[in-house]
Amino acid sequence: MRVLFVASECFPLVKTGGLADVVGALPLALAGKGCDVRVLIPAYPSVKEKLGETEELYYYADLFGGMAWLRRKDFGGLDLMVLDAPHLYERDGGPYTAPDGNDWGDNHRRFAALSWMAAEIGHLGIDGWRPDVVHAHDWQTGLTPIYLRNRHGARARTVFTIHNIAYQGSFDPATFPELGLPGHEFSHDGVEFYHRVGFLKGGLISADRLTTVSPTYAREIRTAEFGYGMEGVLRMRADALHGILNGVDEKIWDPKTDRLLAAPYSAFKPEGKAENKRVLQEILGLKADPDALLISVVSRLAYQKGLDVLPGLLESVAARGGQFVMLGSGDRHLENLYREIAAQHPGSIAVRIGYDEPLAHWIYAGADAILIPSRFEPCGLTQLYGLRYGAVPVVARTGGLADTIIDANEVALRDGVATGIQFAHVTAEALGFALERLFELYADKETWTALRKRGMCQQVGWDRSAEDYLDLYRSLVDSSAAG
Ligand code: ADP
Repeated sequence: MRVLFVASECFPLVKTGGLADVVGALPLALAGKGCDVRVLIPAYPSVKEKLGETEELYYYADLFGGMAWLRRKDFGGLDLMVLDAPHLYERDGGPYTAPDGNDWGDNHRRFAALSWMAAEIGHLGIDGWRPDVVHAHDWQTGLTPIYLRNRHGARARTVFTIHNIAYQGSFDPATFPELGLPGHEFSHDGVEFYHRVGFLKGGLISADRLTTVSPTYAREIRTAEFGYGMEGVLRMRADALHGILNGVDEKIWDPKTDRLLAAPYSAFKPEGKAENKRVLQEILGLKADPDALLISVVSRLAYQKGLDVLPGLLESVAARGGQFVMLGSGDRHLENLYREIAAQHPGSIAVRIGYDEPLAHWIYAGADAILIPSRFEPCGLTQLYGLRYGAVPVVARTGGLADTIIDANEVALRDGVATGIQFAHVTAEALGFALERLFELYADKETWTALRKRGMCQQVGWDRSAEDYLDLYRSLVDSSAAG
């Protein structure tokens, strides 16, 4: 089975969120099952820098307005292809936004080019290699199946994965002629969505199969509350839509072997966790106190994440002798609010604004609990890292959070299956009750130790889900052979 992944991010080369972790890890898990996977991403400056020398596969004199090269490199086991189009990707700033924080004005061309390239490989192949399946991720690659279905002759089948339906790649209709698509694709069967050009909509309408990253989110996005306008399209395509849970890269995220940590530990030898807590408190300027309940957040500060309901509760966390650390960035107002709260509670509350991969590891390892009060969460990875590192997850009951954490209610505790705390409705009141339960559980050392250990023993790797993806690819390839 040959599969081409196409995406706008891939850990450790470029990452703004969970998409990168998935695109960096799932291909390796699939390769471990005998699948021949290549990954295509844009050659942003950070990617080129980290890759160094590459093999040139192909040259394009004019790809969406400039010269481009397709390059290849084996990178930590990933068979990687990068689209090196300096006029599209070689600039300072983020993958999607300029240094001033605004979206790049030519994002439609930047990601149409990426999608076109994936379709070209899915149709003609490259280097004598043609995939059976092109697996595209999120709106940036939503045009891939649209381009492919406009090609004649043998071509790859398509899977399109929704990592977050709130990001849709919606552009002015005046951009349509720049995409190189036939006019009929600007229609309700194509990319047109409420008189605009919708990249996500294009992927949803045209891919052979759709997936999203948890079974609960697969149901939620068919409702008006969670569908962000796409619920109608998704209801129409319900038979093609599958929810497959994300996993974590167990080689990177393992407290036994994580070289970033102050001390290794595991579910069966948990002693090292205390040392990580001590070091974290020291780094953050928190009071050295092995017994204080240390609660953490590692997150983008976006409306989705519900972190606007937490600030009013932190006073009482500190008053109860608890500690709190937040690592995150995003909404400027929230960044400032959290900074102010930290300034008012030195020694108890620490806030780090920014993106810091090593600090994220130290926090998962040193914290007792991790809070994820998301309004919606397609899968969520931080609760999985929390489980693995023994930071007990306190999560809103939505999407992948609902699917991966078992609430410590009376029955679940008695039956020995609880792994965290769930609460419903993202309000300060509901989160406040969840925090009360957290303090109570933490005070009961025996129950707490068992809860934490159970979480650390959960299977959160890619094995099961990679098998599910492989089954999906096989069903597509078998059906095209039969047809
Ligand atoms: P999303 O993709 O919506 O941001 P996920 O939970 O799926 O949420 O993935 C978030 C990923 O980004 C995790 O790997 C988490 O550790 C990481 N992350 C989020 N914020 C930060 C930050 N400020 N610094 C370091 N890592 C972060």
